[in-house]
Parts: sequence; C-alpha cells; structure tokens
Amino acid sequence: MAGNKTFTMIKPDAVKAGHIGAIMAKINEAGFRIVAMKLTKLSPEKAGEFYAVHKERPFYQELVDFMSSGPIVAAILEKDNAVEDFRTLIGATDPSKAAPGTIRALFATSIGENAIHGSDSDENAQIEGSFHFAVTEMF
Ligand code: UDP
Ligand code: MG
Repeated sequence: MAGNKTFTMIKPDAVKAGHIGAIMAKINEAGFRIVAMKLTKLSPEKAGEFYAVHKERPFYQELVDFMSSGPIVAAILEKDNAVEDFRTLIGATDPSKAAPGTIRALFATSIGENAIHGSDSDENAQIEGSFHFAVTEMF
C-alpha cells in the first residue's frame, strides 16, 4: 500500500523569485498537511550528499551549485498516496513538458532551475525527510 508522507524542497530559484507563498498555497489546496517545514540553506557538501544518486550524471555539479546557491524551504507533507499525488502536482522535471497548472509549469524556468523537489518513492521520502528533520520534529 502507498504511504502517506512525502518530502519536498522549494528550490533556490523559486525562493529568490518570491514564490514560497504561492507554492505553499497550491500544496495546501491540493490537500497536503504540513508535518514539518523550515527555511534553510544547503552547503555544497550537503547538496552533494542529498543528490548523491545523480553523481555520475553530467548535470551533477551544476545541480549541486544551484541547490546550494540560496535559501530553500524543506518540508514533510502528509496525504493519502502522498508521493504519487505530489509528483502529479509538481509536474514533469522539464517545465516545457509539465502539464498546465502544475507547480513546475507555473514557476520553473528550466530543467535545472525547476522550482521544486518531490520524492520519487516512499523509501526516498523517508530517507530525504530524515536528512532534513530529526524524527522528534515530525508530528
Ligand atoms: N536536472 C538537471 N538536468 C537534467 C535533469 C535533472 O539539471 O537533465 C536537475 C533538476 O533540478 C532535477 C534534479 O536534477 O529536478 C533531479 O533530477 P531528477 O531526474 O531526479 O528529476 P526530478 O525527480 O526532480 O523530477
Ligand atoms: Mg528525482
């Protein structure tokens, strides 16, 4: 059975552009409850660790530089079928391919600077949530 939690980050491009409020409104309207949330900044080391799965990809260094370039909002979200429903809400990685009305269609500028992260599995939601929050912070 699908789990009920996912993990998200509003990326530095969207924070810089002043889209935190509008993106959180979309997330709330879609029925997600905020379990934990913080404004924070990733060091290059932490960004590299978070995206270690992409280490061999050509865009890895660019991704690490971008993700450590400014503040982000990290959050754990709860809803039935959270991972899949949140991926639907954010849209495709490349905003030119993202469905109309999705967060990436509305706020992303490129395949790299694409406004928001969403976990791709229940297992990764757990790993990524724990990367940013102590278990005792989750309620
Ligand atoms: N990315 C990139 N170039 C690419 C593919 C991905 O810069 O060709 C970046 C982009 O910010 C993306 C992140 O790397 O969100 C992680 O890639 P993934 O394929 O996991 O996409 P996502 O799960 O975020 O949709
Ligand atoms: Mg991914």
